[in-house]
Amino acid sequence: MASRIQEKKHLSFNSLRKSLSQHINASTDSRKSSASQYAHHDVVMSGFACMYFQDPSLVQFQQRLETSRGRNNLQTLFNVHQTPKESQMREILDNLSSESFAPVFKDFHEKLRRHLHLKEYEILPNIIMCVIDGVQHYSSKSISCKCCLHKTHKNGDKTYYHSVLQGAIMHPDKRQVLPVMPEAIKNGDGKEKQDCEINAAKRFVNRLYKAHPRQKFILGGDSLMSRQPLIEDVLNKNMHYLFVAKPTDHVYMYEWLEAFPELPTTEYVDEKGKTHRFYWQNNVPLNGGADAIKVNYLEYQQIDESGKVTFKNSWVTDIEITDKNIIKLAKAGRCRWKIENECFNTLKNQGYNINHNYGHGKENLSFNVYLLILLAFYFHQIFELTDGAYQVCRKRNGSKRYMWEQLRSIITFAVFETWNELLAVVTDPDEFESSIIKKS
Ligand SMILES: [Zn+2]
Repeated sequence: MASRIQEKKHLSFNSLRKSLSQHINASTDSRKSSASQYAHHDVVMSGFACMYFQDPSLVQFQQRLETSRGRNNLQTLFNVHQTPKESQMREILDNLSSESFAPVFKDFHEKLRRHLHLKEYEILPNIIMCVIDGVQHYSSKSISCKCCLHKTHKNGDKTYYHSVLQGAIMHPDKRQVLPVMPEAIKNGDGKEKQDCEINAAKRFVNRLYKAHPRQKFILGGDSLMSRQPLIEDVLNKNMHYLFVAKPTDHVYMYEWLEAFPELPTTEYVDEKGKTHRFYWQNNVPLNGGADAIKVNYLEYQQIDESGKVTFKNSWVTDIEITDKNIIKLAKAGRCRWKIENECFNTLKNQGYNINHNYGHGKENLSFNVYLLILLAFYFHQIFELTDGAYQVCRKRNGSKRYMWEQLRSIITFAVFETWNELLAVVTDPDEFESSIIKKS
């Protein structure tokens, strides 16, 4: 029991918030006065608090609360000493190096690993899957910088945008996805050719390996990723891959597969009468090049009762496929949709609002805002995975959306000493009222 209590402590709001504070403090210039070091922490933490509560006007409301009550929730919950001004926030967040957030993601991952939560994410013994995909987080027709990606429309208009190659750890049976530090897709100085997802993916693999050299990963991705140069990079870093392969992208490989009279296969019928059929072939050349690497191919088909194929997908991997692991591998391959659905869609449409234009800034503002949103999402995913009190609160409130509405509204007029106290009120408002009455 003692170890379970400790486990919660290490992944509690307080522990994660303290870790974030430490990393923010480490990113300040130590030559600066302690007053400006405080200001730096207070700005970044207040920016984070806005994303945590999914409320861009949170700082403004907390300022009002401070005027009437003498203190506010930014001070009590987030250890903010002095509530920053809007203009100060933009400037500091714009100048902050985005790399200073990388250790936070690494730290949270390590905390999850140490307390065995990543065990539940293993696809195969000791191997967890990190799915990668690109997502755009800023776009404008007029405001741009030297790093902006751009596309020209038919009528000559240009759209400028910023994207990242995001990675997230996921498992077919787990609802929560756990983000890792993304890689910005951005143009460099004076380069003719624009940066692209596949180049960012190569840098991402390098980054992931450096952050977690002892963790075994299987990298998941769409058909764009199933190219030899990226696959070679993945293998060089001692990682596995499971990338979608499409007949249109891999003509040579599919011709090669066609030449077999039949492929090894296995199938099962589920309780609804649907047939799940799997085919595979190990040791297939990925392309027609003289130095083509050999990959292991797997295909999944879903067939309805009338015999019609209603869904199919196929992948390539370096893991040797057998009738023992093919169902697991196909399931893992299929859960790639979670990065779109559980991660990007949540960030866009479930209150986090990554496409809300918080501003471009001159340097790093738009990427740093994205990272703060991603960290807020990470906090919440960790609570959903590990925090009993949070889970009860969400259940009592019926939906996540309603729970956050309650949390947001209550902090505009009351100050809480701790996050748990706030959570307890939103979990059980009646009990809180009666305890206040008793106290008075
Ligand atoms: Zn830009």
